[in-house]
Parts: sequence; structure tokens; C-alpha cells
Amino acid sequence: MLTTTLLATLLTSWPSADAGLLLRPLPPGAGLRLVVDPGHGAPNNTGNSGCHCQAEADETLAEANALTSHLRDAGFVVLQTRTTPVGPGYRSRIAAIEQFKPQLIISLHTDARADAVPFETAADGGTCWANATDPGFSVLWSEEGPPAVVSGRERWGRALSTKLREVGFVAYSGADYPSLYRFDDEPGCFIDARPFKQRVYFLRATRVAPLVIVETHHALDPLEVARWREPRTLAGFASAVAWAAVEATSASAAGVRHGQPPHRP
Ligand SMILES: [Zn+2]
Repeated sequence: MLTTTLLATLLTSWPSADAGLLLRPLPPGAGLRLVVDPGHGAPNNTGNSGCHCQAEADETLAEANALTSHLRDAGFVVLQTRTTPVGPGYRSRIAAIEQFKPQLIISLHTDARADAVPFETAADGGTCWANATDPGFSVLWSEEGPPAVVSGRERWGRALSTKLREVGFVAYSGADYPSLYRFDDEPGCFIDARPFKQRVYFLRATRVAPLVIVETHHALDPLEVARWREPRTLAGFASAVAWAAVEATSASAAGVRHGQPPHRP
């Protein structure tokens, strides 16, 4: 028999305002080194424009500030690659990342998916577009590089998707992606395997540690955009990232302990 609580949970799913997130305290970071990259915000690069004409670079900065703060409070050692609306370009960020020697890298973005309709008029008289049919997060990584590097990204990306769904976030179906990315077996995970010149530079820019992009939400979906401005959503996201980071790094350590052959160049 369904309890009232369970029934309510089934009836209200993300990004509905009634949909709850299951918040778990962050695990102790114990010095785990993580890079948080707020996507875009390089000179002349504000990213997409959302349903309120909000700039992707501003959204990812707010998300990164909250994520970094939660992670540091839990004992993670975090390098945030940009802390101002306009920060360093991608090549400088990669140089800083390589110097920092992280164990994992997460780059935050938002998506703008197809079939939008006019929604609001911006302060400058321009049109802001909305599309409420395709909410959800996605996780992207590159298939380029040696197998050990690619499997590290796969482990990190899959752990993120799993933990985000456990918290209550919804994985994007990928309906808009087929020609762009290959679908992974894990929901919400996609692999950049396009012709070389079309590939996302940042995804393949370093092999110093597993790097994935998380498209946190659909910037054209008014409900999902509103949810991502709530502290509870940002706390739930931080919890998922922290648990995934612990899992991804302990899995790689276990792989070494359990006798994987040493890498030979
Ligand atoms: Zn982006």
C-alpha cells in the first residue's frame, strides 16, 4: 500500500516546486583535491542566454561559488578557476589546473535546448526564449586519450549521474543530442565523440585528472531555473558532487590495490 508521502513523491517530480530533494550531509573531504570550473566567463564569452535572458557565465559562477563553499566546509581542497564575472581564458585555466594537481575536475555549464518560444522582453528590448519541455542535467566527457584516462572520466561521470539522481535531480533524455554526442549506458551521461574539429576544447584539454562537464540544468526552463536559485538545490548538488568524488577516487584506488597492471608507456 502506498503511503501518502510516497504518493506525494510520485506525483511531484523535478523541477516542480513541490518536488523535494533528499539532502545528505557531505562526506568528509579529507583533503581530496577538486577543481570547480564555472563554465564561460572568459573575455567575450558569456555562454548561452536563458529564459530571463540570464547569461550562462553568471549562472555558473553562482553555482560554483556555492559548490566551492560547501566542499571547503567539508574538508575538500578546491581550486575555483574563476571567481569574477569575467575571468581567465581556458588556456590559463588549464595551466592553473595542471599546477594545482587535482584528483578530479568538474566544469559547470547550463544547456539551451531546441524548440524555444518567445517568453519575456529583456531590459534592452530583446526577446528571451523559453522551452519547458526538456529539463534535467547531463554529464559529458571526452573519449580521447589513453584507456586509463578515459575510464577515469567514465568513473567520475557515472558516479556524478548516479549521485545526482539519488538526490532527486532528473537526468536529461538527450533528445537534442543524438547528432552531437554518443549516449553512455548510464542515464544523463554523454560522450563527445564528434569529428575532431567540433569537439569541446576544454573536455580534452588536460589529462592531469578526470575532467567532466555537468550541464546542471536547462537555462530555458523557467521552473528549473527558479529551482537552481534556491540554496537547497545548490546544497543538494554539492552533496551529490562530494559523494561522487569520494566514490570515484576510492574506486580508482581500489583498482590499483586489486592488482591492475602498472601503466607502461
Ligand atoms: Zn556552456
